Amino acid sequence: PRSIVIVGGGLAAAHAVESLRDMDYAGRLTVVAREPHLPYERPPLSKGYLAGNDEREAAFPHDAGWYRDNDVTVRVGTAATDLDLGGRVVVLDSGESLGYDRLLIATGASPRTLQLPGIGHALTLRTIDDSERLRAAFAKGGRLVVIGAGWIGLEVAATARQAGMEVTVLEAGERPLGAVFGPVLADHLTAIHQRNGVVIHTGVTIEAVTEHGVVTSDDTFEADLVLLGVGATPTSGLAESAGLAVDDGILTDEHLRTSDPYVHAAGDVANARNTVLGRHLRVEHWDNAIRQGRLAGRTMLGVDDTYDWLPYFFTDQFDFSMEYVGRSAPDDEVVLRGDVDAGEFVAWWLRDGVVTAGMNVNVWDVNDRIRELVGQRVDPADLPDLQ
Ligand code: FAD
Repeated sequence: PRSIVIVGGGLAAAHAVESLRDMDYAGRLTVVAREPHLPYERPPLSKGYLAGNDEREAAFPHDAGWYRDNDVTVRVGTAATDLDLGGRVVVLDSGESLGYDRLLIATGASPRTLQLPGIGHALTLRTIDDSERLRAAFAKGGRLVVIGAGWIGLEVAATARQAGMEVTVLEAGERPLGAVFGPVLADHLTAIHQRNGVVIHTGVTIEAVTEHGVVTSDDTFEADLVLLGVGATPTSGLAESAGLAVDDGILTDEHLRTSDPYVHAAGDVANARNTVLGRHLRVEHWDNAIRQGRLAGRTMLGVDDTYDWLPYFFTDQFDFSMEYVGRSAPDDEVVLRGDVDAGEFVAWWLRDGVVTAGMNVNVWDVNDRIRELVGQRVDPADLPDLQ
């Protein structure tokens, strides 16, 4: 190809660009990025950056000089509004048209919202600007109500609490993160939050958000600040209206090729075929965006590599720092090894005797060994503590 366009200026885009230049691709390379920033990493936005501990520069994998030196044009503050697959043209909100030989769609995901009266009073967290807005609000102190006990909701709850806010989390389900963790680990994490002064209510039905807080079916929670953290949806509208195959994200094969031979997709927006799991999977995690971005860079140039690694994720909440690899279901069997009371342990999930996932909590440099056992049939008695 002589001209490659990437739509979406996030982490997947940053790593696709890097891999293309590493592969000695010497043609034109343009990134169309809606946000007014170069691509950056989002994990610090609910953790160290939100707390005011991390430098802003640390969130950017490459600075402006790097893009210049690598002859990459990043059109910040520019959205792609239309895609003509037949003509191989992307239309920008500036009215310009960009032709391509290969296109990568890496438009990420957007915060899900709820259809509720007053929902406009609630903030969401996806961008560095959102994080700075929240941080400024934390500086005033007061009461934060978080709607949704998912990863982002719980991370923000922990950061806000450490910044001195009063924090209440309202969760519709039976447990925080119950759908990922299952009851044993969900209860472990809930206890950590409670010990640190976060109030968690489960089984809650939200009826409205007001200027003064959140109204549920049986209570009112006063708040100076409300954060809505009920998940994200793939930003796939552009792909869908262009006629690409979309089903919970842009469908791709194991090379990250979409239903159009000249278009690839990567990162949070891609529902890609994973050769290890033998099925399609859409993953909203940092490691996946980096790896898929790099893979798309190679496969756009015709390299025969495939998406063949297990999902990996990490979080930091109070003194709960972990890495998780694999894909477990909430009703999988759970085996704990190590010192759970001291908060240093390994959790294993199994289904029909096969390890589906593993997580190291405050135990480090063992995640690769966990990864080796995922997918293997192991007698639970033989699962190691890896200490
Ligand atoms: P994004 O980073 O979302 O980038 C996509 C970009 O494309 C966005 O800037 C968007 O505005 C832009 N865009 C969309 N449509 C268009 C268009 N039409 N034209 C131009 N541009 C467009 N993962 C972990 O593994 N661990 C963590 O601890 C963790 N913490 C997180 C904390 C927060 C607060 C958030 C929001 C995410 C976190 N994640 C974490 C997830 C991780 O950040 C994402 O998986 C990753 O950012 C996905 O990268 P991406 O490039 O696919 O999409």
